[in-house]
Amino acid sequence: MEKYSKQQKEIATMIDSDDFLDKWKDWNWQLKHSIKDIETFEKLLGISFEPSEKAKLEETLEKFPLSITPYYLSLIDSDDFRNDPIFLQSFPSPEELSVSDEELEDPLSEDTDSPIEGITHRYPDRVLFHISNVCSMYCRHCTRKRKVGDIDCIPGKDKVLEGIEYIRNTPQIRDVLLSGGDPLMLSDDYLDWILTEISSIPHVEVIRIGSRMPVVLPYRITDELVEVLKKHHPVWLNTHFNHPREVTASSRQALQKLADAGVPLGNQTVLLAGVNDCQRIIKKLVHKLVQNRVRPYYLYQCDLSEGLSHFRTPIGKGIEIMENLIGHTSGFAVPTYVIDAPHGGGKIPVMPNYIISWSTNRVILRNYEGVITTYKEPESYKQVYCDRKCDDCCLQLKLDDATEYKGIGIAKLLADHDDTTSLVPEDNARMERRA
Ligand SMILES: *Cc1c(COP(=O)(O)O)cnc(C)c1O
Repeated sequence: MEKYSKQQKEIATMIDSDDFLDKWKDWNWQLKHSIKDIETFEKLLGISFEPSEKAKLEETLEKFPLSITPYYLSLIDSDDFRNDPIFLQSFPSPEELSVSDEELEDPLSEDTDSPIEGITHRYPDRVLFHISNVCSMYCRHCTRKRKVGDIDCIPGKDKVLEGIEYIRNTPQIRDVLLSGGDPLMLSDDYLDWILTEISSIPHVEVIRIGSRMPVVLPYRITDELVEVLKKHHPVWLNTHFNHPREVTASSRQALQKLADAGVPLGNQTVLLAGVNDCQRIIKKLVHKLVQNRVRPYYLYQCDLSEGLSHFRTPIGKGIEIMENLIGHTSGFAVPTYVIDAPHGGGKIPVMPNYIISWSTNRVILRNYEGVITTYKEPESYKQVYCDRKCDDCCLQLKLDDATEYKGIGIAKLLADHDDTTSLVPEDNARMERRA
């Protein structure tokens, strides 16, 4: 039986005077007692804001509401709350109201790349499927901030079936990412039904769940839930830890249940000014993650969503963090740093440069220590002309079901069998003069 902190006991007793020990770990109790206003926040943490600040905070809440679970709130250090990473991720800042020119309501054009309500189909072989408009906690840095405070709802079976129909009728889709809101806000039975429907589609090879529950409401990861997930393998789960302080005994237990159920775990961190923009913090975080069988997956540059300017860092900060990880620690503890391109360009990986120079037979590289080294390329390399007639090729792909995709982008320019020699932007003035 894990211990409760003094602060947790005080908070729980203030919320619910009788026998909180029974209820604290009940995720529905946590949701029912989520903190949604400033006064309760002040009371539970024993802090208070000046009237003028409070007025600004209230104004912020009208646009972007507040919601935090008692569990996540209990992690805040009330003695130094203004610098506290949990406070900064959960408590509104009046700076959210200042929207700079480059910020967009839907920076990733998720609503534009949506063939049908609830589905974002951006990449050839995978889709994002929004099955929940609700979250147990409202992250202040939410990329889908435009939707925060919309009528909290979980789409009914009819709506969900429309999305499933789209997936069923689109054979390229081999990977379905359940997203939201938080998909784990759904009941076990509802999730079970959705997972059953999706797994019945022959071309769907894997299902992924994106959920912040292991961080903000770890008690959601119940034995019953993992029994449901187990039935539908392969089910992968990506969660969202941003700071080592979030890795508590309760969240470790949740991760253990998931890992023991055979769910491969990944983590997506958002680089946030004032929260985790420090290479030592990120390094500590990734170490804690791998200790708990969570593979750091992505480190995100903060999106250009409205009201997030105060969270954004220069990209150089991310590169500096990557420089401090690659080579310095276990390869599997190093996430890929990505910038999600505005207007639906998708994720673009960035990292420090390791190739220094190049000749016809040598590549000059540098390592993490600054050692500069030569890789001598082979004297002779028998180039195989790839005509995509894989059945006649000496390399043995020989899979009946190996999918063939149309070449896209730079990969198309590299392909032997494709005559395309350049990709020209749509409004290229030089081409327009020719026409
Ligand atoms: C991030 C994302 C995916 C998944 O991308 P991976 O790189 O495969 O993790 C799929 N669709 C959309 C719209 C996304 O934003």
